[in-house]
Amino acid sequence: MRKRIIAGNWKMNKTLPEAVALAKEVVKLSAGADNCEVVICPTFVCLSGVNQVLSGSNVQLGAQDVHFEEKGAFTGKVSCDMLKSVGVKYVIIGHSEQRTYFHETNETVNKKVKAVLKAGLLPIICVGETLAEREADKTEKVVEDHVRGAYAGLSKEDALKTVIAYEPVWAIGTGKTASPEQAQEVHAFIRDLLDKMYDKNVADQIRLQYGGSMKADNAKELLQKPDIDGGLIGGAALKAEDFNGIVRA
Ligand code: PEP
Repeated sequence: MRKRIIAGNWKMNKTLPEAVALAKEVVKLSAGADNCEVVICPTFVCLSGVNQVLSGSNVQLGAQDVHFEEKGAFTGKVSCDMLKSVGVKYVIIGHSEQRTYFHETNETVNKKVKAVLKAGLLPIICVGETLAEREADKTEKVVEDHVRGAYAGLSKEDALKTVIAYEPVWAIGTGKTASPEQAQEVHAFIRDLLDKMYDKNVADQIRLQYGGSMKADNAKELLQKPDIDGGLIGGAALKAEDFNGIVRA
C-alpha cells in the first residue's frame, strides 16, 4: 500500500516571517492527517526557521532544488549536506521552471537525484510535457525521456526511495488541470515504464504525484485514480486552508 504524499512547493514566495506563520498554520491544520505524508518546501533562506516550527509535528520539510556537487566554488548554490543540516528530508528535482528558466536537463536531474540519495535525502522528481509536446502527440516520449534520464544508473534499492511528480507544464499555474483520466493515463504509463526499467515490485511501490493546478475542489477526483498517490501543489499551497483542503481530500 503506497502512503499518500501531498507536498507544497512554495516557489519564490514568502519572507521568513511569512513562511514561519504559514508553516505554523499548516502544522495546526495537518494534525491528525496520519494516513498521508505532508511536506512543505519553502525557499532555501526559510528552511531553518520553518524547520523549527515543524519540530514534533507530522509535517516534513522539503527543498525546491539542490546542487549536485558536495562543496566548492559554486556561487549561489546549496549542497545536499547543507539541506540536511537544516532538517530537510525531500528535495524537488527537475521542476519545469528549473528546466525552462535555469538550464536543467535530464543529465543534471540525474546528477542531482544521485547526490540527494547519496546524502540520505529523498528526491521528488518532476516530469511532464509542454502543451506543444502534448499537441504533437509526444507526451509519452517526453515523459519517458524524463524518467529514463532521471533514473539512469540508479539501483532498485535507490529507485524505491524516489517519488515522481507528473506535472504537465501546461497545467502548472494556469488554472488548467489535467482531467483525472488524462492524469491517470500518464501515471499508468509511468508505472508501466518503471516495471520495464526495474520490476513490478519497484513499479508498485514508487509513489506518483500529480501536479498542475491541483486544488481542494479537484483533488479528490484526481486522488481517487488508482495510480495517483498524491500531489505536488504550487499556488494552492500558499494558503494553509487551501492546502489543508487537499490534504483532507
Ligand atoms: C508546481 O509548480 O509544482 C505546481 C503544481 O504549481 P500549481 O499548483 O500552481 O499549478
